[in-house]
Amino acid sequence: MREVRVRFAPSPTGALHIGGVRTALYNYLLARQNKGTMILRIEDTDQGRYVPGAEEYILKSLAWVGIKIDEGVGVGGPHAPYRQSERKPLYQEYAQKLINDGLAYYAFDTEQELEAMRERLKNAGSDNQQYGSANRHEMRNSLTLSKEEVDTLLSSQTPYVIRLKVPANEEVKVKDLIRGEVIVNSSEVDDKVLMKSDGMPTYHLANVVDDYLMKISHVIRGEEWLPSAPLHVLLYRFLGWEKEMPHFAHLPLLLKPSGNGKLSKRDADQMGFPIFPLDWTDPKTNELAKGFKESGYLPDALINFLAFLGWNPGTTQELFSMQQLIEAFSIERIGKAGTKFDILKAQWFNQQYLRSKTDDELVAYLSESLQKEGIECTEEKAKKVISILKERITFPQDIWEQGRFLFQAPTTFDEQVVNKKWNDDVVKVLTTFSTAIQDFSSLTAETAKSTLEKTAADLGIKIGSIMQAVRVSITGAGSGPDLMMTMEILGNKEVISRINYALTTLKVKVA
Ligand code: GLU
Repeated sequence: MREVRVRFAPSPTGALHIGGVRTALYNYLLARQNKGTMILRIEDTDQGRYVPGAEEYILKSLAWVGIKIDEGVGVGGPHAPYRQSERKPLYQEYAQKLINDGLAYYAFDTEQELEAMRERLKNAGSDNQQYGSANRHEMRNSLTLSKEEVDTLLSSQTPYVIRLKVPANEEVKVKDLIRGEVIVNSSEVDDKVLMKSDGMPTYHLANVVDDYLMKISHVIRGEEWLPSAPLHVLLYRFLGWEKEMPHFAHLPLLLKPSGNGKLSKRDADQMGFPIFPLDWTDPKTNELAKGFKESGYLPDALINFLAFLGWNPGTTQELFSMQQLIEAFSIERIGKAGTKFDILKAQWFNQQYLRSKTDDELVAYLSESLQKEGIECTEEKAKKVISILKERITFPQDIWEQGRFLFQAPTTFDEQVVNKKWNDDVVKVLTTFSTAIQDFSSLTAETAKSTLEKTAADLGIKIGSIMQAVRVSITGAGSGPDLMMTMEILGNKEVISRINYALTTLKVKVA
């Protein structure tokens, strides 16, 4: 088999979209599985869309999720430079070769002339208004002008582009590893611009030239590039590189969580979830978009989630480490249909990965929050806090958000629960209970439970009817982690003080 060399080739036009991370991941998995090479190429030939900081952001994002680059921008390698803007002369050379071979031509048409051409075709009732085999002979290009005219135009610096001379009515076959064979009639392909008037290549030329020179074996990219693939196949043919042509695999689209259509930043904003791996501040608007990282997603969980957006292992196993993904991955098991971006599933993965962390790792998350709040805490207490919250959290920051009441006494009480459940029975039980535990040297979950049960029984009150109100008095909320463990963590002094505060504050309601 051919040596596996794959590339992730983003354009630095803004923050890296989460779909781009999936593309990078699939490339990476194939490379690692085959002891191949993962290349990062920056496709920055569209100078109008260049966004400062985007390249750095791409590098940081890949590093955060654990996708290691073997060759390319930031690393170097035998095919440097890997930034297309630094490879300009190469593209010029191949464009020239195509011209010399009669497979491409200079076109001098102005914007107005192009507009007039489209108008003409529209008025003639044609639904195809592209520049191509059907109408190139009517345009101002090196196929219609004399050699002298062309030379004069070139030497007088008249702006021009170089277009590919796409043959009429030929079958172009694209073999796609996911979609099978896609056949397109070349008359549907327009004479695409290969070199722009600013001397820069277009994506199409640069992409093919670089994939060839960098000896790319597989092009794995988003479905949006499938329509360009026939043109790329023609370019390989015209440049005499058909034998070296890479395998193509066009990945299914990522769809909105509900409804149809491509997942967009707007959907993500509306539904309140991130779409970029890391925080991104738009340099133009200064608007901050929150990243998966900063929202509390763990990189391993995100990778596991992304791997399943389009691929599946064919078994029921869902949890895969990067190493397991490398072993299990196969292009054959990537589906054709678009995949819904189910953020709840991403959260589920995050929960699973959080739960598999050691208590020490989770304590570290808690300590970070406590430090920010200026709260001291013994290791013993921190461990207990983790033990009752571990199964309840989705994000590391939830430990503090859901466990805050274990460090700060409530000042307000869930009104709905109070209105429904606060009554004389509750007051009686709480009063007796707090007296009963007063002299305990240590309050454990067991002694708290047995004392509370005994108190209720002695008073002839059903324990089930008062439990929620007891919880509210101690935690402020109507639900939460195990209440007996909560009391153990707080200790009897704190429990009594909270009960007393509740009894005085809520007295009014009862009266
Ligand atoms: N620069 C293109 C992009 O940003 C790469 C497409 C490809 O992989 O060929 O999507």
